[in-house]
Amino acid sequence: MPSFSMEVKNELSHFNETNLCCLYAELAALLRMDGTFVLSAKHHLGINFSTENAAVARRALAFLKGLCIGEINTELVVKRSRRLQKNNYYIIRVMPSSLVDELLKNMGIINADGFNMGKDSSLLSKYCCKESYLRGAFLGGGSVNKPDRGYHLELSTSNYEFSRQLLTLLNQFKFPVGKTTRKDYYVLYLKESEAIISFLRMIGAEQVLEEFESTRNLKEVRNQVNRLVNCETANLQKTVEASLRQVQNMKKLLKDAKAKNLPDALKKTAWARINNPDVSLSELAQILGIGKSGVNHRLRKLEAMALQLRRCENK
Ligand SMILES: [Zn+2]
Repeated sequence: MPSFSMEVKNELSHFNETNLCCLYAELAALLRMDGTFVLSAKHHLGINFSTENAAVARRALAFLKGLCIGEINTELVVKRSRRLQKNNYYIIRVMPSSLVDELLKNMGIINADGFNMGKDSSLLSKYCCKESYLRGAFLGGGSVNKPDRGYHLELSTSNYEFSRQLLTLLNQFKFPVGKTTRKDYYVLYLKESEAIISFLRMIGAEQVLEEFESTRNLKEVRNQVNRLVNCETANLQKTVEASLRQVQNMKKLLKDAKAKNLPDALKKTAWARINNPDVSLSELAQILGIGKSGVNHRLRKLEAMALQLRRCENK
């Protein structure tokens, strides 16, 4: 079964991108996430791009062909994983040529100063492109948990400058972003369900959102029920402890010689409590045929006497 991240990426890979500006923005983020650039002997640039997801590889290839800058030479290699349960790798090689130089210039990855490590502000002037850029980043190095495994969405990259760029962008959209490092990777993450939903909606993952939201709702109902049960258990525990303490006190008091002088009403109350340790105050009031406040008053009096008795014994 594909992972939830894989499902999201599969859906995003079919997102229909029609604006050329957005196409450049998404491709730039995608390449920055998982691509490396190579320089040929003739000083032309080439790109190596790898992904675990076949649909992402296809999308990147389609983008490279759809940029209308001429025939870019590409090669797709599938690397089979030797380890079981590890996914295959798809490597796209874009052969070095003047067209690739032009493409990287158009994307702002190379500029007059040479390589631009990750400041893509020129690609991000329009709102539409910002969304596409985040989609590219997710397709390249994103992952998201299914909500039943805890809320977590992350974008991880080995490029520090680029992670700063993504952080700035996510902050602009007021996402509550956390950041950390893992091995050689800079990781930005979201932990709140609402933020994850907004992010997925922003980058165009509408179908998986339905699944995400229904799992989240189910989880929240389950949590709510658990909270209620825990709360009731805690209350019950308190009642049981209180009545146990009372019963012990009453027994002690009735055993005491001086208790012979105990008024009948108090004696009755003490016995009622001993015989009915697990009933509530109102039920005890019913048994005794008096009001709740009356029972409360008598019980307090009995407890005070028991306390007094214990004090005297300890002297
Ligand atoms: Zn755009």
